Amino acid sequence: MKVYADHAATSPLRREALDAMMPYLTERYGNPSSIYSLASAARRAVESARADIAGALGASESEIYFTGSGTESDNLAIRGALEARAGTGRHVVTSAIEHHAVLHTLQALEKRGAAEVSYLPVDEYGLVAPDALRDAIRPDTALVTIMTANNEIGVIQPIDELGAIARERGVPFHTDAVQAAGHIPLDARAMNVDMLSVSAHKFGGPKGAGALYLRKGVRLAPLIYGGGHERGLRSGTENVAGIAGMAAALKQAVTHMAEETARVSEAAGIVKAGLGAIPFARLTGHPEKRLPGIVSFVFEAVEGESMVLALDFGGICASSGSACSSGSLEPSHVLLAVGLPHEIAHGSLRLSFGPENTPEQARYVVQAVTDAVASRREMSPLWRDNKPAY
Ligand SMILES: *Cc1c(COP(=O)(O)O)cnc(C)c1O
Repeated sequence: MKVYADHAATSPLRREALDAMMPYLTERYGNPSSIYSLASAARRAVESARADIAGALGASESEIYFTGSGTESDNLAIRGALEARAGTGRHVVTSAIEHHAVLHTLQALEKRGAAEVSYLPVDEYGLVAPDALRDAIRPDTALVTIMTANNEIGVIQPIDELGAIARERGVPFHTDAVQAAGHIPLDARAMNVDMLSVSAHKFGGPKGAGALYLRKGVRLAPLIYGGGHERGLRSGTENVAGIAGMAAALKQAVTHMAEETARVSEAAGIVKAGLGAIPFARLTGHPEKRLPGIVSFVFEAVEGESMVLALDFGGICASSGSACSSGSLEPSHVLLAVGLPHEIAHGSLRLSFGPENTPEQARYVVQAVTDAVASRREMSPLWRDNKPAY
């Protein structure tokens, strides 16, 4: 059996997205900036996509900017906000469990003295405490950036509450909503955020298309200069097909969210219960405040990477820690932040489900993981000699 259980890394392209893209990859190839009718068709596609994405995120059209990825949206929000506020402060508050698109951006800024960053700790479930944010904001704080939902453990933050705290203090608030968009209901206004990043390929759109919600009146400096596209904030000829595909995918995800969530939750629920029955296995993240499709576990005395390889033999695509840190021997910064010791933080397995996964596939995954954990432990002298005590 083949099971794709790595939707948090990327998701299969939805049929509706491909259909929406095809005309702009074939006969409607005009440059949206040109003035003949071939170009107006492309321009209309971009503007109608903007309206659809705005609608799906509770924003107005003029608040949506297209980028080349979730990573670029995060970079634009963070570096753009700091540059626009240069002179008023360079202190940033973030969380210890952000995606590398945020963490590495901030670390690069810190290294060259362009930012001073406070990393808020999280509790054992991965939650940021609103009081910790309240205490961390200083008069020179120029930005707060905290993700909506985590890509490794699926925990969902109380963004509306955190956003309200930043707003009360007059500090711009950005949230990386790349894992959340299309998976849980989002309303940029109700969330009290000033900026919000999304990426098409995480909700059934194409890779290489992202968007940034930027609340009206919030200032941002561009990262990329050129022809002045996207109202001067992101130059470069628009990825028309990618943008059309992103909008179609998000519309589809939002319209069918209830039924897709039900399907995803069924598969994830079977896997969560099945893996929970393995001795010395622990679900990471919050038991309830989590994305419906992400099931993340640590297994004592088992390397995550070796689990992923074993599952691959069984036709299952899964991941260990985040895809970006795969290949490195560093344990996940997220699992360390939730308080897991080094040796256990290596043993993480993330299975992330989508609407096409069936209960039958979920049961197959449970069996494969159970077998793989048992056989790896049998080979482990550490496990044989002293079984762990938690
Ligand atoms: C995937 C992901 C990103 C990066 O998006 P890309 O479009 O792949 O660059 C950023 N943040 C989170 C939380 C993600 O899961």
